[in-house]
Formats: sequence, structure tokens, C-alpha cells
Amino acid sequence: MIRVLVNGALGRMGTEVCKTVMAQKDMDLSGVVDINGADKTIPYYDGGVLGVDTDLENAITCTRPDVVVDFTRPDAVMDNLRKIIGMGVNAVVGTTGFTKENLEEIDKLAQEKGVGVLVAPNFALGAVVMIKLACEAAKYFPNVEIIEKHHDNKLDAPSGTAVLTAQKIAEVRTAMKQGHPDEKETMPGARGADFEGMKIHSLRLPGYVASQEVVFGSQGETLKIINDPINRECYMPGVMLGCRKILGTKGLIYGLDKLL
Ligand code: NAP
Repeated sequence: MIRVLVNGALGRMGTEVCKTVMAQKDMDLSGVVDINGADKTIPYYDGGVLGVDTDLENAITCTRPDVVVDFTRPDAVMDNLRKIIGMGVNAVVGTTGFTKENLEEIDKLAQEKGVGVLVAPNFALGAVVMIKLACEAAKYFPNVEIIEKHHDNKLDAPSGTAVLTAQKIAEVRTAMKQGHPDEKETMPGARGADFEGMKIHSLRLPGYVASQEVVFGSQGETLKIINDPINRECYMPGVMLGCRKILGTKGLIYGLDKLL
């Protein structure tokens, strides 16, 4: 049995992860942590309840997980990972908002401790395929803009998926400035964020889960690649796959595509 501890267990994603782990034949939900967990419980096996810990290190010591799944906050995740890796435990991380320096630090710490860390900005299979297709299209359509649409409780912008999409496209496309060479924004931010000449636009509205469009333009035509999650269940097969495949690896794995 793979012992899984979920950090951020009372959040939107954490709640779904706990339910899904308990439904797996080869996994055991060994513990749950949330900063808001004092005096709280979650539904547990056979109609029981499991107390929520507020102290990650204490929960790791008491429940000895093989892997910690983290869906918390961009401003908390690095501290969480320093603790998890420091205690010699593997991690599967869905929390977004990492910088390049953060990822380098995670890899170094994980290599030193001999544990595996999966950081996946998007666990949905549709998103992984969208990025692959976008890279293929970018070879023929170098003019591209990304529009990502999330619920209005999201803390970071642009989304981790949009950044990953732009990074992957940049690997197959020569950097170029798009739009009119003399274009000027009469309102700051009107043209969106810039990644090597590609523009990224972030919508934040109630009702969205985490959609993204990659829009390519060429003479007389456009091409759109769209991923539209309907609910958070779409992330669960990827998270479960991550929990299984991270065991026995060493260092950082960035992106679910590396494990598929
Ligand atoms: P959420 O509903 O706000 O859940 C996060 C939970 O973690 C909250 O209960 C939060 O408490 C708690 N928390 C905050 N800091 C903590 C800490 N230091 N230790 C333990 N718990 C802590 O957010 P969500 O929608 O589940 O999303 C969580 C993260 O996953 C975000 O970064 C989001 O962008 C990302 N995400 C990734 C994917 C993917 O496929 N990779 C998919 C969806 C979402 P408070 O409410 O007090 O902050």
C-alpha cells in the first residue's frame, strides 16, 4: 500500500484528492493537514472520521507517508516542500506559482535527500495533450497568444499551465515580437503579459474552473486549441499516477507529461 498524506486537505483540490486516494485499492490515506484544520475532521474509511492536523512535520512524523500531495498556496508551498523533502519523503505537487529558482532549489534538495518530487502545473490529461498539440502547431503558426480562464479565487496569474505552455512553445519557436512594431498600450496591461513575445491573458471570473485557449493566427485564418475542464475530477487520474510513479525516483520531475 502507498501511504499518502494530503496537505491542503480542506481546500477544493485537497478534498477531491482525499476522496480519490481512499477509493484506490493500492493506497492508504495516512493523514491530512490543513492550516485551518484545528478541531476539524474529514470523512474517513467505513463511515469514520479522520482528524485534520495543522502541523505538517508532526503529521509526517506520526503517519510516516510514502508521498505527500500538496495543494495549498503559492506563498506556502516552498516552505512545505523544504519540510517534506527535509524529512526524506516524496512529494506530488499541484500548487502553482513556482519561479525558475524555486524549481532549481527543489531539484537540488531532492537530489541531496534521494527523494522524488513531481511538480505538475496541470494534472489534467487534456491539458497535457493541449500543450503537445500547441507545440506542433507553433512550428507552422509562430504568431500565438494564450488566454487562460480561472475562478476568481485563484491567487497567482498567469496560471502555471499558461507559463508551461509558453515555455514549451518557446522551445520550438524562435523568440519574436508580435503585433504592430509601433503598438502602444493606452491602458497598462491591455496586451497581457509577455513571454518571449507571446502574450498571455488571464481572466478571473466565478463559474470557470481552469480553461485555456491557445490561439494561433496566420494570413486569413486562426487556429484554436482549447482545454475546458468541467470539474476537478479531471485532475485525479494524473495525481494518482504521480503518487504511484514518483516512488523510487530522485530529484525534480516538472510536468505530468514526463511520467505518461
Ligand atoms: P484552496 O481551495 O484555497 O485550497 C488550499 C487549502 O490549503 C486551503 O484550505 C488553505 O487554507 C490551505 N493552506 C494554505 N496554506 C497552507 C499551509 N501552509 N499548510 C497547509 N494548508 C494550507 O485552493 P485550490 O483550488 O484547492 O488550489 C490549491 C492550489 O492548487 C493552487 O495553487 C491552484 O492554482 C493549484 N491547482 C493546481 C491544479 C493542477 O492540476 N496542478 C489544479 C487545480 C488547482 P486557506 O484557505 O486559509 O488559505
